[in-house]
Amino acid sequence: MITLNFHGVRGSHPVPDGQMVGYGGNTSCVEVVKVNKAGVKVPLIIDAGTGLIKLGYAMGAKLFTNEYSSTFTMLFTHLHPDHTEGFNFFVPNFFPFCTIHILGMETLRKNVGGVLKGKMVPPTFPIEYKDLKSIRKHGVLNDGQQFYIGQDGAPISRYPPAKDADPLFEVQVMQAYAPSHPQQGALYYKIRDPEDNTTIACIWDVESHIGGDVRVITFAEQADLMIHDAQYTEEEYLSTKNPVQGFGHSTFSMAIENAVRAKTRYLIPFHYNPRHNDKLLDRISAQYRHIQSPIVLMSQEGLSLTLQNGLILQQEMLSIGFSN
Ligand SMILES: [Zn+2]
Ligand SMILES: [Zn+2]
Repeated sequence: MITLNFHGVRGSHPVPDGQMVGYGGNTSCVEVVKVNKAGVKVPLIIDAGTGLIKLGYAMGAKLFTNEYSSTFTMLFTHLHPDHTEGFNFFVPNFFPFCTIHILGMETLRKNVGGVLKGKMVPPTFPIEYKDLKSIRKHGVLNDGQQFYIGQDGAPISRYPPAKDADPLFEVQVMQAYAPSHPQQGALYYKIRDPEDNTTIACIWDVESHIGGDVRVITFAEQADLMIHDAQYTEEEYLSTKNPVQGFGHSTFSMAIENAVRAKTRYLIPFHYNPRHNDKLLDRISAQYRHIQSPIVLMSQEGLSLTLQNGLILQQEMLSIGFSN
């Protein structure tokens, strides 16, 4: 059994706006959670958009009571600000007993650690990266890489792992290059629950192609659930007035096309345009409600899905607030 929580679903920049609160204004942050053998929740976090800030507050006290594992892994798709901005305000970074394994791409000879470090330097930020209390371990991921996350929340260096390792997640990596996403591409992830093979494909910050993105389709083939970039409507994508082709993002129909061809059971449109308000997203959602294969479920900040054997068992809204 695996739980998938959406803490930020917006692309480009946050939108704290009344017309957007239904789907949410925070930028990309997805959390996959499993309970380990000791009964502790172990999160695997994908991207550190502003949605991560909320998650950090929610983890806060639970890290002291061991409800949440104080060792965990964070995967970065790439290093644009809508995927890193929340890191500076992530509460576990201020606890010395937290160990965070930070994994992502190396780009322009800078790895993910170097980029985060560069974002936390006075005078643009009052705390230096090196002064954070958490222990941070950095790693570089490459196209085609596969690895497991162990019971303790840390990546396992051996692949495949020892027989008695009983890992919580398997991660597979695909790297896309420009022009899929300018300028240095992005990493896409496939996360599998080894217990029942439930597989989630994380495909965002991608601009698909006519007829679908063959590499993405092959990578995500037979995944149970695909989370896919859906930044533009068809009209926006084809607009000559305000051209967005080449910006590295997909339309809703590109997302559907890739999910249909990859034969995923569910498609979750994600990385919404900050200009798309609740009304518009509701309209788009209604348009795809009749599709059975894949079932289209709109991402929403606070949406929590529990999956078993590739099927959504439970769907609920989390109430993570900033107050205690
Ligand atoms: Zn983005
Ligand atoms: Zn990007």
